[in-house]
Order: sequence, then C-alpha cells, then structure tokens
Amino acid sequence: MEAKKIRSTFIEFFQSKQHQFVPSSPIVVKNDPTLMFTNAGMNQFKDAFLGNEQPKYARVANSQKCLRVSGKHNDLEEVGVDTYHHTMFEMLGNWSFGDYFKKEAIEWAWELLTEVYQLPKDRLYVSVFEGDQDDNLQMDQEAYDFWKKIVPEDRIIMGSKKDNFWEMGDTGPCGPCSEIHIDLRSEEERKQVAGKDLVNNDHPQVIEIWNLVFMQYNRLSDGSLKELPAKHVDTGMGFERLVRAIQHKSSNYDTDLFMPFISFLEGKSGKKYGQDEQTDIAFRVIVDHIRAISFTIADGQLPSNNKAGYVIRRILRRAVRYGYTFLDFQEPFLYELSPLISANFGEIFPEVKQQQEFIAKVIQEEETSFLRTLDKGLKMLDQIKADLRAQNETVISGKTAFELYDTYGFPLDLTSLIAREGGFSLDEKGFASEMEKQKNRSRAASESETGDWVSVHDDEGVDFIGYDFTEAYSHIIKYRVVKDKKGDKYQLVLDKTPFYAESGGQVGDTGYLISESEKIRVVDTKKENDLIVHFVEKLPTDPSLRFSAEVDKRKRSLTMNNHTATHLLQSALKQVLGDHVQQRGSLVNDQVLRFDFSHFAKMTEEEISQVEDIVNSKIRENIPLLEKRNVPIEEAKQMGATALFGEKYGDYVRVITFDPNFSVELCGGTHVPSTAQIGLFKILSEGSVASGVRRIEAITSLEAEKYLKAQENLLKELQDLLKNPKDLKKAVESLLQEKAELKSELDKLYQEKASGVKADLLKQFVEKDGAKILLAQISLPNADSLKKLAYELKNEVADAFVILAAEIEGKPQIAVILDENLISSKNLNAGQIVRELAKEIQGGGGGQPFFATAGGKKLEGLPDVISKAKQMFL
Ligand code: ATP
Ligand code: MG
Repeated sequence: MEAKKIRSTFIEFFQSKQHQFVPSSPIVVKNDPTLMFTNAGMNQFKDAFLGNEQPKYARVANSQKCLRVSGKHNDLEEVGVDTYHHTMFEMLGNWSFGDYFKKEAIEWAWELLTEVYQLPKDRLYVSVFEGDQDDNLQMDQEAYDFWKKIVPEDRIIMGSKKDNFWEMGDTGPCGPCSEIHIDLRSEEERKQVAGKDLVNNDHPQVIEIWNLVFMQYNRLSDGSLKELPAKHVDTGMGFERLVRAIQHKSSNYDTDLFMPFISFLEGKSGKKYGQDEQTDIAFRVIVDHIRAISFTIADGQLPSNNKAGYVIRRILRRAVRYGYTFLDFQEPFLYELSPLISANFGEIFPEVKQQQEFIAKVIQEEETSFLRTLDKGLKMLDQIKADLRAQNETVISGKTAFELYDTYGFPLDLTSLIAREGGFSLDEKGFASEMEKQKNRSRAASESETGDWVSVHDDEGVDFIGYDFTEAYSHIIKYRVVKDKKGDKYQLVLDKTPFYAESGGQVGDTGYLISESEKIRVVDTKKENDLIVHFVEKLPTDPSLRFSAEVDKRKRSLTMNNHTATHLLQSALKQVLGDHVQQRGSLVNDQVLRFDFSHFAKMTEEEISQVEDIVNSKIRENIPLLEKRNVPIEEAKQMGATALFGEKYGDYVRVITFDPNFSVELCGGTHVPSTAQIGLFKILSEGSVASGVRRIEAITSLEAEKYLKAQENLLKELQDLLKNPKDLKKAVESLLQEKAELKSELDKLYQEKASGVKADLLKQFVEKDGAKILLAQISLPNADSLKKLAYELKNEVADAFVILAAEIEGKPQIAVILDENLISSKNLNAGQIVRELAKEIQGGGGGQPFFATAGGKKLEGLPDVISKAKQMFL
C-alpha cells in the first residue's frame, strides 16, 4: 500500500466511526510560552483538555506535523543514526473529548491495525501503565482488562512511568497510556529472542508505532496531579513507522516517503545508499532534515539567530555538514530537494507546494552562508593545528572546540573528525564543560517560575468584547504569580475583556483595572493558546471585586490606524509589485508599522512612491470598514480573503474588508471605522531582512504629521543658515560649486608651496661617503605632501638619504627616505631610523627599509630630531 493510501485509510476509518477530520495545525507554535514547535497531535487541543475551551467536535481524527528537536521531546541526536526517529514526522491521531474512553480506543486501534492494514497479530505487543508510587497512581487495570479480551496476556507488557505515562511538558495535560509495538525482525531472529524482551529496548526492528493516551490529569507546577474536568482520548501513531511496517521495510527510510529523496542524492553524489554506515547516516540526516526545514519555513519560521529560528538554522547546518563531509557536497545542494518536497507532500500539505520557490531561495541562501563559515572555520582549524604542532602539543582544547562551535557553528563531531585526521585528539570533556557553562548562563538569564492559576470566580469561558467596547465591568476568573530575577509579576484572566491580546502582529492593549479603592495598571495583554492573559503591576487587594476594565484609548486608536494601513499597504504592494507578494511578518503598534513580505528585488524609488500614493488615495476615499465575524472559512476563501501561512484558523473566521475590490483579509485585529481616520501614510524605509524577504517601515496619522513637521523644520533651518535664498536648491548647488573651486585653488597653492620648499631643499644636500644627505626642518600643509616631497627628492637626487622633520597642521611628523642601494651598502634602514628619531617628538612609526614615517605629540622636539640626525649621520 502506498503511503498516501495509508494516510487516507486512517482518516476514512475514523470518519466511519463518526470522527471529524481536522487539518494539521502549524508546526511553529504561537501563543504558548511553554512550547516552540508542535511536538504532538494533542498540542492544538490543549485548551480543550484543560477545559479552557469547549471542543467543537467530540471526536476528531487528523495527521499532525510534529517536530521533536527541542524541549522535553528532543530526538535530534538520534535522527539519521537510527532508522525510526525523525525530526519532523506526521502523527496520525484519533481523539475523544469527553466522549468515548479506553474501551473504544483500544478496540478500534486493534481493528485498524490488524483488520484494515492487516498487520500480523503475532508481531504486535501492547503495554499498560504499571502505576507509580511517587504520583500515588494505581496500575491501569481498566486498560489491561480491555486488552486482555483481544490480545493474549503474554503479549501485554507492564510499563513504567517513563514509557507509559505521557506528558506534553513539565506541566499540562497528561495521563497513563498504552503503547502498541511491532516486531519487524526476520522469522529466524524471532525464534532466537522473544520480541517481548526487546520492546522498549531501543531495538531498531522492534519499535513503538502507536501510543494511546488516556488523558486524565493536569500536571501542576509543584509536580502534583489534578484530575481533569473530563476524560479524553489522545492517540498518536507515527505515520512513517506505520508505513514502514505495512510496506515490510526494515527502515523508515526505505519507504516511498523517503526513497525519491535518497535516489536524488545518490544521483547527485555518485554514492550508493546502503554501502557504508557513515555515508548512510549522511543520506538519512539530509532526507530527514530537508522535510523539517521546508515545513517550518512554509509555516512562516525563517532561520535566524534566536529561538525557533535558531533551531531551524542548526538543523539546516547539520544537514549541510553531513553532505559536506560524507557526500562531498562543497556547493549548496539542499535547496535542490525542494521540488521533491512539493511533489511528494504538496497534496496533503499545500503550503509547501505554494511556497516552493520561496522555500528553495531561503534554504539556498542559508546554505551558501554556512558553507562560507565552514570554510573559514576549517582555515582556523588549520592554523590551530599548526600552532599546536609548533608547541609539540597533540590535544585541541575544549575551549577552542567550543569557540569553533559557538562562533562558527562548527559541530563538535566535525572538529573531532578533522582533529583525528591531523593526528590530534580533542578534549571532549572540556568541550562539554564549556557547553554546560553556557547553558547555565542562559538559564540564569531567562529563569522564571510560573505559578499555578488560582481560581477566583467560576470559569465559564472568556469573552473578548474589544471589537465593540474599550471599557467593561469584569470579574477576575483566575490569577497567578510569575517569579523571575526582576521580581514578581502578575497575570490575570477576566471573564469578559475589552483588552486586545497581542496577535497577528498587533501589540496587546494597555490600560487600567479600576475598583472603588484601587487603580491597577495593565502593562500588556497576551494570548496563551486561547486564553487572554492580562499582565498587571500588582494584584488587587480583593480579587473577587468587580472591576472596570479600561483600555488606553489613545494608544489603541493610533494602533488601529497602523493596522488598517498595513492592510492597505499589502494590497498596494500586490498592485505595484505583483501577486507573489505575501506577508512574512508584521508588527503594528501605536508608533510604527512594519511589514515583511516576499519579493526578490529591492524596490525602486518609483515603486515606493507609487505604493505610498495608492495607500494615501485609499485613505482619502474614506472607505468604511466592512467587518464580518464568524464567516465559515470556505466562504471567506471564496471572498478572496488573504490568509497567512503558518496561521491557525478555525472553521469560522473574521474577515476585514476595505473595499471588496481592494483589501479583503482574514484578521483578528482592530481596525478604524473608515480609512480617513488614518490621515496620512508615509514609508520611512525599505530594505532586506532575509533572502527573498523585504521589510517596509511606515508611519501614519500623528507620527506621519510629526515626521513631516520635522522635515519642514529642517528645511526652515537650512533656509535660515543660507540667509533665506529664493531658491534653496540653487543656493546649495552654488555653495557646493564654490567649495569645489576653492578646493582646487587651495590645492594649487599647496603645490606651489611644496615645490618652493623642494627647490630650496635641493640646494641643501651634503655629500658624505658616497651618499647625498639632506636633513631639514620644514612646514607643510598636509601629510600627503610630505610623502610626495620625500619621493620626489629621492627620485631627483642620486644616492639620496633624506630626513625631513615637518610641522603639519600643528603636529610633528618625520619622513625618512633613502636610495635602495644604501640599504645594503651602508646598512641603513629607514624604519629603524624613524623609530629612533621619533623618540624626540614622543611618537612612533615605521614603514619599509627605504621609506618610513612617524608622527608624534611634541612639536617642540622637531629641532632635536634634526640635531640627533646630525650626530648620527654627519
Ligand atoms: P519513542 O520511544 O520511539 O521515541 P515516544 O514514546 O517518544 O516514541 P510518543 O510521544 O508516544 O512516542 O509519540 C507517539 C508516536 O509517534 C510514537 O508511537 C511513534 O510512532 C511516533 N514518534 C515519536 N517520536 C517520533 C520521531 N522522532 N520520529 C518519528 N516518529 C515518532
Ligand atoms: Mg521519544
């Protein structure tokens, strides 16, 4: 069965059991401080499990893009080395939100695997949670009993908390689980060792394929467990592993999910997969990583120097490095795999197909720059090795290796490989300790401790009313304390709130919570999943009171101007530059708007001006806002609404329109009632942020006015300086011309002076022992003329030996020049001489044996220079 068919069969099976199919959520997580990337199918349902949100369907099935390269679930080091852990993989899941529980989950899993996919029953093992004393949990008898009905007891295994209690992170929803493992070894091997003994033992042919999690608890920050309001089923099956089992392969990479990529690399490198362990790892690393990189870029995360962007950068570098070392790819190659990604995954994940060209560009640029770094690092290593050899040392220190790693992105295994090639060893312990030190530094810098929520009022869902109101009477549902180095901070959730939480690039609202006795500042508002969290300066003395929640209206209104202007800007850019323009990021606050978009060339002055003109004309048209809430997503798409890649949209969306023929966008932000409120739009800058991504910074309304005023003032000041000429431009032009004329006159004067000095000097040469010596103190207009004069004297007088002590713009300088033949015949060296003489002017200098100069601080020393020279040479 082909991979595609295996995926669709899974979905159809659960649809036949009344499950609703939902698309994968983006791989890059927004609005969750505890998670950078989606690491399991359950992430997008976290709020439903916690009871923060009413699930839309009681039963759901999906295939989720997951990435396990950071945090609690990090498989990066395994990937490529083994054959069944990937960085990015698809997790197939079926879900029950307070609906069915263990019985159905177990029975259906068995039915699908053994009857639909026809996997051999006698190769399957299942595990059950054995209980845990620390958590005060009993064994999962219920699950055991259901399994017993369909699986012989000798293939049911009891598992510890490590394997059979699933947790998303340090806190959050969790519960006991039952895993399904498959033994894919040959018949002979199976006869020798029982599969049961190999389950959960890192055997590459006896692997876990499916995990059925029975979500029952919430892990609190103090480590204790709290029962969830309802019981749920969360299952996750590794799609790549399933495909491998069904296709009877001994490695995930031998399936039709990866083979096209491996074949391509074989063709390109001229090497064969399956012949050498080290090259095989390289093949696997590359074909695995290209998926992770492409999918994350498609979801809007560009490689960068921090956080999620840095994780992607490191994955990409790992792939490049393996290609470089083991497949001899010295030039960018990863990006050439982009068309294969699009062809193989574009159907189920259209985002990689639609952005294929963009993804390839970004990858190629990263590769190019990393290969350059790699080159630099290699040269440095050569130098390091040479230095060590000179000192008869054979160990590259951990510190050096860490420096290479930290500043040049040089992986330890590469440094160690190169070290070995040169007969050196590497202090790996030292490296590890440097690494630890750095981790501790960054941990200390970012350490914060988030307390559990404390309930105040019953939680009946949170209402955001900020589209219609900027004030409301509200109650606090819950609050918590976040401790970090800067002191305690407080967060709270309101039952209804006019405060807009930062999202879609728009900053969070600020304002006040006011009771009869208190006024508390709200310094920011952010989302945590779907919760609206208010950051406040202090907790109210009595949190149970009713508060008047008031948004800072001025700030909100200026922010709205910028947000609407951003929509107008996006449409104008499409008109001027073309339909390839897509939003890549945006920031909207009360001061500026920043808009990143895909476009491959610098915008011309004319394009920028056209864009400005279009936006300003739309502002003057005073187009009213057309806001539609709860539009079914399909309908919104038909309206031609612009959606963002990597954004998680629900089934119902909000559509913001300013003229149906001009700007229609899916957007949760706040907007002006009609465009004239924006007043004025002005672009301040246009530049590049990454390969194929441009950034515009612009201002509107008050800021734009301020800007124009400042420009006008500047002009006025210039006018004043120039005594109010009729035509300012002409006045500046003639000023510049006058300046040029004066300069050329001055140059002429300098010349005349210098040649006068020269004529004088030519008369002062004294002959001694076959050399013509000149020692003179002079004054010259600039340093250039000193050098020029010295050279001319040398060229015009045979066997010249000249020492000039000059005052130049009030400072002492010495020049020594001598005929080349005197260097050897008289053993003279201009550099040495100048250094000796420079002592008299408290200075220093140097140069070549035939010409050297020095500058100094002591102008009065010039005569001493000459008298010292006389002593030395005459
Ligand atoms: P393992 O012990 O093999 O690392 P796990 O216990 O971490 O697996 P779960 O967190 O239960 O796995 O995830 C559910 C399923 O997702 C697993 O049964 C497996 O099939 C698949 N899976 C987990 N991690 C990976 C990975 N890195 N690459 C591919 N598939 C994976
Ligand atoms: Mg794992």
